[in-house]
Amino acid sequence: MDHAAGTRRDARVSLSLVVPVFNEAETVGLFVEKVAQVLGSDEQIDLQVIFVNDGSTDDTLERLMALQARDPRLLVIDLSRNFGKEAALTAGIDAACSDVVVPIDVDLQDPPELVLEMLAKWREGYEVVLARRINRDSDTWAKRVSASWFYRMHNRIASPKIPENAGDFRLMDRCVVEALKTMPESCRFMKGLFAWVGFRTAQVEYYRQPRVAGTSKFNGWKLWNFALEGFTSFSTDPLRVWTYIGMTVSLVSVLFAIFIGIKVLVAGVDVPGYASLMVAVSFLGGLQLMGIGVIGEYLGRTYVESKRRPVYFVRQVYEVKD
Ligand code: UDP
Ligand code: MG
Repeated sequence: MDHAAGTRRDARVSLSLVVPVFNEAETVGLFVEKVAQVLGSDEQIDLQVIFVNDGSTDDTLERLMALQARDPRLLVIDLSRNFGKEAALTAGIDAACSDVVVPIDVDLQDPPELVLEMLAKWREGYEVVLARRINRDSDTWAKRVSASWFYRMHNRIASPKIPENAGDFRLMDRCVVEALKTMPESCRFMKGLFAWVGFRTAQVEYYRQPRVAGTSKFNGWKLWNFALEGFTSFSTDPLRVWTYIGMTVSLVSVLFAIFIGIKVLVAGVDVPGYASLMVAVSFLGGLQLMGIGVIGEYLGRTYVESKRRPVYFVRQVYEVKD
C-alpha cells in the first residue's frame, strides 16, 4: 500500500467523469462550464468527460455536439434509446480507459469540487472513494422516509451492505472498474454492484445542493421499482421467505387439528366431516406454499441470469481525435 501511495502521490492522473444524461438540455452547458473551471485547469489532471445520452428526446445531443466542438475533452456516447440511468452508467464506465473514473450527475447535485478531495484520498492509496451526502434537504419528505426505509430493508436482507446516503457519485480506481466490467448481469443495480466488488474504500462528505436547472427524472413509481431491483438483485430472501410461511401455516394447521380432535372428544361431533376437511385443506395449502417457495428460489435465479441480453446499445460514439 505504501508503494502504491508513493507512486500515486505526484503523478499526473487521467480522470474520466461519466455523466448519464436524459433530457438535460438545460443543464449540460452549466455542467461543462463548472467542470472546466474546477477540474479543467488543474495541471495534475488529464480530464475526459464522457456523456452518455440516454435516449433524450429534447436537444441534449445537439447541445453536447456544440459543447464538444469547443472542448475536445468531451466524449459523447449516444445510446439507441432510453435504457435508464443504470445502463447509461454502465455504458460510460465501459468506455472509460483512464486511471480513475467518477460517475457524476449532470445537474450539479454532485459538486465537481469534491472530486479533488476524492483524488487526494485516492493518492493515499484508497481504491474507492465514496461521496456521502450529509443532508437530504434537497429531497422531499416522502423521498427521505422511503430512502431510509429502503436502506434499512436492503441492508437487513442483502449482502454486502450498501452505505447509506451514498449515491453513484464516487471515485473508482482502474482495478475497480476492471472488476465491475466482469460482472455479467443485465439487471444492473449499480449501487449494489459497486458495493459487491469491494476494494479499499474511503469516504468524503458533502452537502447535496438542489438541482441547478431542469427537473428530476425519478418519480415515486420509478424509485419503487428501483428499490425492488435492489432487493431482487442482491438477495433471495423474498423468495425464501415463502418456505417459512409455508412451514408456519402447516404447523398452525397441525395445532388446529389437535384442537379440533380434542374438541370432538370433549363436546362431540357438531358438523360431520368438517374437521378433517379443514385440516386437509389448510395443511396441503401450507405444503404447497413450501413447494412453490423452493421452486421459486431456483426459478428466480435462473430467470434473471438466463436472458443474457446486452445492457445497452450504442447508436454512435462522438469523439474528437487528436
Ligand atoms: N438519467 C439518465 N437516464 C434516465 C434518468 C436519469 O441518464 O432514465 C440521468 C439524469 O440525466 C441525471 C442523473 O441520471 O444526470 C440523475 O437524475 P436526476 O437528477 O433526475 O435524479 P435525482 O437526482 O432526482 O435522483
Ligand atoms: Mg439530480
